[in-house]
Amino acid sequence: MSSPVGHTLAGMAAVIIIKKQWPLGCMDWIWIIFFSNLPDIDFILAYAADVERHTFTHSIGFIAFILMIIMTIINVKPELGRKVPNRIQYFIVFPVVLITLHILLDMLAVDESFPYGVQLFWPLSDEFFISPFAILPPTWTNYTLKKMIIENSKTLFFEILIFVPIVIAAKGFAARSMRKKGRESA
Ligand SMILES: [Zn+2]
Repeated sequence: MSSPVGHTLAGMAAVIIIKKQWPLGCMDWIWIIFFSNLPDIDFILAYAADVERHTFTHSIGFIAFILMIIMTIINVKPELGRKVPNRIQYFIVFPVVLITLHILLDMLAVDESFPYGVQLFWPLSDEFFISPFAILPPTWTNYTLKKMIIENSKTLFFEILIFVPIVIAAKGFAARSMRKKGRESA
């Protein structure tokens, strides 16, 4: 699994590309940080209720569940929905893309604890899936504090090395699109 920093940087790149916009607004940042890291609430569940990690919160079932919650909130409080610009993006596209991206990154990262991977197709299947080749470093959780600090610092370093150039490329893409749009409307 990747760290919150890796997930947030990847989410940032995705939102910049979808919106073709830089800088992003306050609401974008809240969405990016929240939905890019939402599947890892199982971290809290694992401690509180001894639930295994990377199960239902890293699955297509969880994405459907979150969409259902969002739709229920909008139904109960329609005035909340009306305040949001570009509702399809904020209520459907960003949650789906950011959670899916989180799950894919976890599948591409080294998993240091069994069962390896994520329960991608829960509730249709309980099987765990992981990429046959790991390109991202793991986040270490079940070790001594010293080992966790050393190993997770290495992970952070690699994630920054991988994702910051992707974010910079996304910003370049957004800047080009905005310039093109500016020329077209001029
Ligand atoms: Zn995760």
